[in-house]
Amino acid sequence: MSELSSTALVTGGSRGIGRATALALARNGYQVFITYVSKPDEAAAVVAQIEDHGGVASAFCLDVSDTDSVARFFAENIKDKVKLSVLVNNAGITKDNLLIRMKDEDFDRVLNVNLRGAFACLREAAKIMMRQRAGSIVNIGSVIGQMGNAGQINYAAAKAGIIGMTKSAAKELGARNVTVNCVCPGFIETDMTASLTDEVRAQYAASIPLGRMGSPEDIAAAVAFLASPAASYITGQVLAVNGGIYC
Ligand code: NAP
Repeated sequence: MSELSSTALVTGGSRGIGRATALALARNGYQVFITYVSKPDEAAAVVAQIEDHGGVASAFCLDVSDTDSVARFFAENIKDKVKLSVLVNNAGITKDNLLIRMKDEDFDRVLNVNLRGAFACLREAAKIMMRQRAGSIVNIGSVIGQMGNAGQINYAAAKAGIIGMTKSAAKELGARNVTVNCVCPGFIETDMTASLTDEVRAQYAASIPLGRMGSPEDIAAAVAFLASPAASYITGQVLAVNGGIYC
C-alpha cells in the first residue's frame, strides 16, 4: 500500500463546504478527489486552485444517490489505485416545504442524496479502509438534524440519520482502525443558504451566540482535524460547529 498516493475523497467538493474542505485537505498533503454532479466548471476551478498551490487533485462527476455509479466509481478510481485515507461525505441538497405540503418525491430525493448517498460511499470506503486497517471518515450532518426545523422535515430526517449511521459505523469499523465521525454545521454562508432573506438571516444570527453565520472554512477546519492523525483516538463523535447554538 505504501507506494499508493494517500488520498482524500470529498463528495460535493465543487462548492461551499466541500470546496473549502478539499482545499484544506490538499494543504494537509493529501491527493484530493472531489465529486460534483451539475457544476463541472466549479469542480475544475477547485482542482486548478489545488494544483496552483502544488497539490494534486481530480474531479469526477458522480451522483451519490445512484449506488451502482458509486460502486463503479470506487472500483474504477479508488480500489487498488490509491490509498484511501479520508472520506468526507459532504454532498447534500435541500428541498424545503412544510410537512403537510411536502411531496413524496421531494422527501425521497433529499433522503436519497443526503443519507443513502452517504451510506453508499461509506459502504464502499469501509471495504477498502478495513482492508488497509486505516482510514478516517467524516460525515457532514447538520444542526437541523439535531434540533429540527419547520419546513425541513426531509432534510432533518436525513441529517438525523447521518448521526445514527456515524455512530453505528464507528462501532463496526473501530476494530480495523477506521474512525467515523460527524461534523454538524450550523448556518453557513454557501449557495445552500444564499436564498435566505435578510430577515431570516438576521433571525438566525440572533439565535447564534457568536452572532454570525459560519464560513465554509470554519467547517473545513473541523473536518480536517477529525481526518488527521491528531484525531486518531476520536470516533463515533458528533462535533457541532455552529457558533454556539445549543441542541
Ligand atoms: P452547496 O454549496 O449547495 O454544495 C452542495 C455540493 O453537493 C455541490 O458540490 C454539489 O455538486 C453537490 N451535490 C449535490 N447533489 C449531489 C448529488 N446528487 N451527488 C453528488 N454531489 C451532489 O452546499 P453546502 O452548503 O456547501 O453544503 C455541504 C454539506 O453541508 C451538505 O451536506 C449540507 O447539507 C451540509 N450543511 C450545510 C449547511 C449550510 O448552512 N450551508 C449547514 C449544515 C449542513 P454541484 O456543484 O455539481 O451541484
